[in-house]
Amino acid sequence: MENNATREQRLSALRQRTTSPVLIVGGGINGISTFRELALQGIPAILVEKGDWCQAASGALSRMIHGGLRYLETGEFTLVKESVIERDRLLKNAAHYVFPLRTTVPIDNLGGGLINATRRFLRLSDKPTRRGALLIKTGLSIYDVYTRQFGSMPKHQVRGEAATRDRWPAFAPWVKYSASYYDAWICAPERLGYELIEDAERACPDALALNYLQLVSADGESVTLQDALSGERFTLQPHVLVNAGGAWIDQLNQRLAPTDQFSKLIGGTKGSHLIIDHPDLLHLLDGEMVYFENQEGRVCIMFPWFGKVLLGSTDIRVDDPDSVVCEEAEKAYILESLRFVFPNIVVPESSIVYTFCGVRPLPASDAKVNGQISRNHSLVLLPPDAAHAYSLLCLVGGKWTTFRQFGEEAADRVLRLIGENAVCRAANCPSAADATSLHRPGKLRGLPNSPSSIHCRYPACRS
Ligand SMILES: Cc1cc2nc3c(=O)[nH]c(=O)nc-3n(C[C@H](O)[C@H](O)[C@H](O)COP(=O)(O)OP(=O)(O)OC[C@H]3O[C@@H](n4cnc5c(N)ncnc54)[C@H](O)[C@@H]3O)c2cc1C
Repeated sequence: MENNATREQRLSALRQRTTSPVLIVGGGINGISTFRELALQGIPAILVEKGDWCQAASGALSRMIHGGLRYLETGEFTLVKESVIERDRLLKNAAHYVFPLRTTVPIDNLGGGLINATRRFLRLSDKPTRRGALLIKTGLSIYDVYTRQFGSMPKHQVRGEAATRDRWPAFAPWVKYSASYYDAWICAPERLGYELIEDAERACPDALALNYLQLVSADGESVTLQDALSGERFTLQPHVLVNAGGAWIDQLNQRLAPTDQFSKLIGGTKGSHLIIDHPDLLHLLDGEMVYFENQEGRVCIMFPWFGKVLLGSTDIRVDDPDSVVCEEAEKAYILESLRFVFPNIVVPESSIVYTFCGVRPLPASDAKVNGQISRNHSLVLLPPDAAHAYSLLCLVGGKWTTFRQFGEEAADRVLRLIGENAVCRAANCPSAADATSLHRPGKLRGLPNSPSSIHCRYPACRS
């Protein structure tokens, strides 16, 4: 579809489509990424979103584009490595939205946490505990190895008490050491999501993205989509339906085939953030993020946010993703966590200028501690059967940081289902075919180039 097509033109195009090779439901970053990857292969997928693009988890993240230091403890080395690669890709190719972020971890002891970390690594414990300087240094050294392999971020640094006090005089007396390293943050995740849609529609003019269009029912052969603005209904027979519904995946599956054949895929946890107007705290941070463990050993963050400070977050299990709001108790919890690190910083309620929250679409898990649930992603395929004539591919879990990788994996699975091959990789196409490079075309340093035998169906990529 032309990028500048009106909504009416889009609806009109949809009226003419009674079948579709692929229908993607859910316009969060993972649905969008799958749409883009398919468009780059010339597949005219349809993407629908019931509200605004990236309105749910994809607009409620902590804004960190990061490797995920703490996932090393649970042995998720592949996830951390993959995340660091994707972070570095975004830093180069979406440099208009993703920026390096110096990050400091306050530490209270030298050797603490080693036994517990080993127990967590061996899956003998899921109890969060305070981590000492040696443990954090080990994690940061592994991080450095991944970073050096794929990017150009500076190495980490561990400071003793005097140097820590010198840089951070307002830290609580319990802080004896500190460690600093680099990750990244994204200033406008929704905007980048939207640019990926534009890029996809440019790559494949028959690809069609429509928001305020909800999947409301299904009869086994076809699905019904409803325009949230006019109430008009559309019926479509997809060959493959991609369920990218995030925290709504299970609800959506029930709507597609109301049987008990589906096992529960998602165990969402709510996360809330505060934006506070506090010039003193902003001054203290001086452009850095503080990534710290609060009284319970839960990881919290604070960093400068357009002249304010972003603080977060909570991690609370929820069953109904539609009803989440940032509760008063969560505000109190986040401010209490802030006082734990900066006891002399007074933050009155009136400094809270904004709150936001979303539900992490984490895989269903019986872990006792939410922070220990894997942030990795996976695909669950439900082949056609008596309940649904189409293949149903569910996108479970994932981080914002790794959307491109997840989208590529999902698109590859779809291509196999429709008997097509991948002809172009967004990751390997540093031209306009990589939406994240639209504003910064150039070779991806340290990453493999496009094999010369691969030709994208996207004209801009063929040259
Ligand atoms: C509090 C919090 C902090 C986070 N922090 C970070 C971070 O700092 N860094 C990081 O990398 N990741 C972070 N994440 C994780 C990341 O944001 C998510 O993993 C990612 O955004 C999930 O994207 P998604 O597309 O799978 O789901 P979502 O963004 O939730 O999208 C699913 C979409 O499906 C739509 N939908 C549902 N049902 C229907 C229907 N019937 N018809 C049409 N549309 C439908 C919904 O409206 C929704 O927009 C965080 C998440 C949260 C919640």
